[in-house]
Amino acid sequence: MIEVDRCYCCQSSAFEFLFEQTADDPYLHLIGKAEGPSASKWMVCRGCGFVSQTPQLGPGDMDGLYRDYRLNEFRGETPDAYFDRISSYPPEESENFKKVEWLNKAGAVGAADGGKILDIGCGGGLLLHSFLRRHPDWIAHGVEPTPNFAELAGRRLKSDVRSCSYEAGLFGHQFDLISMVQVLEHVADPVEFLRQAKSDLSADGYLYVEVPDVHDFCDLAPTHDRFMAPHLWYFSEQSLGHLCRRAGLAPVRFDREFTVRNRNNLQALCRHADTKVEPAWDTNHWQDVKSLFELNEHAGAS
Ligand SMILES: [Zn+2]
Repeated sequence: MIEVDRCYCCQSSAFEFLFEQTADDPYLHLIGKAEGPSASKWMVCRGCGFVSQTPQLGPGDMDGLYRDYRLNEFRGETPDAYFDRISSYPPEESENFKKVEWLNKAGAVGAADGGKILDIGCGGGLLLHSFLRRHPDWIAHGVEPTPNFAELAGRRLKSDVRSCSYEAGLFGHQFDLISMVQVLEHVADPVEFLRQAKSDLSADGYLYVEVPDVHDFCDLAPTHDRFMAPHLWYFSEQSLGHLCRRAGLAPVRFDREFTVRNRNNLQALCRHADTKVEPAWDTNHWQDVKSLFELNEHAGAS
């Protein structure tokens, strides 16, 4: 485990403690690192308001984790039964369908039929499935490090799905739309990861990023899955916007979605930035983040 003593975003070493994650962490069991209850901390940087968990899993632990990650999502079903169940949700209950509609309304799919989409961390391919139902002329591609899910997605979508960690240039061509849903919070170097995705994006392409939003600090119990070891960072519109701009991407739209499962997702749509800008930090932002946790009625119950 790696102690975080400097802020990933602004390099400040001044952190404000938010809370301790004391629940038994099933992900640590998965990689044989659980020795009694875990006691990681969530901290907000006083310099810029970016939120980190500490200590964090190292690269070797992460690779091991994602080989078996998500397998509990099958919940005793066969992979195909899982795919059939989720893909048959009616539109009003389907989070994947809502994402596709959001992308349509935001103009990310454009007029060009027959584009190429890449979903990074595509799981069993269910977002791509919803996308292809709405846009059957597009060609879907996926990357998923958990082999059972990559196999499921590739077979059911009849699409090119690679079972590995994402890196730029994997497919040898660029994409009109790249999505990464609940991925960036797992990545040790988010700016480098965004830069790689940018290099795979066509000149007029769009990058869709969805991450957990700091408003979860108000709504979720400190023992929630989202605060466990695989999740290294928490994002706000300010911090995600900053990371995207550092990677040469210009956010063109932000939204915050409160899901049927009481989670707050931050949605951002980005394009290539014309110029590289390094915006100033809002040094009061950490107080906004901390005040969210102070409103959490589940805190203290853990
Ligand atoms: Zn900072």
